[in-house]
Amino acid sequence: MELFKEFIFESAHRLPHVPEGHKCGRLHGHSFRAAIYIEGEVDPYTGWIRDFSEIKAIFKPIYDVLDHNYLNDIPGLENPTSENLAKWIWQKLKPVLPELSRICIKETCTSGCEYRGD
Ligand SMILES: [Zn+2]
Repeated sequence: MELFKEFIFESAHRLPHVPEGHKCGRLHGHSFRAAIYIEGEVDPYTGWIRDFSEIKAIFKPIYDVLDHNYLNDIPGLENPTSENLAKWIWQKLKPVLPELSRICIKETCTSGCEYRGD
């Protein structure tokens, strides 16, 4: 069984490695959506894998770094594509949330990526 919790954060970024004139090279912002998935057995007594509020608490320090910030200024996110953002979050989260199985990042309603670890 997998469960997920979704977080929304507002962040600015620009992509430094796109071709000259590409719209993503300009400073702009997104309401990013990050879905954090964990995999595990459903506890027969509680009926859940893990309390959603625990995932929220574990993700909070990462959320606080990302929300209302300029992603390019964050160490490791100098080229803040959705793919790099997913990997960056994974590296921070996996040590404190070992059940982490997938991260889904959406930067618009129709564009995003999924990452399942290295
Ligand atoms: Zn963008």
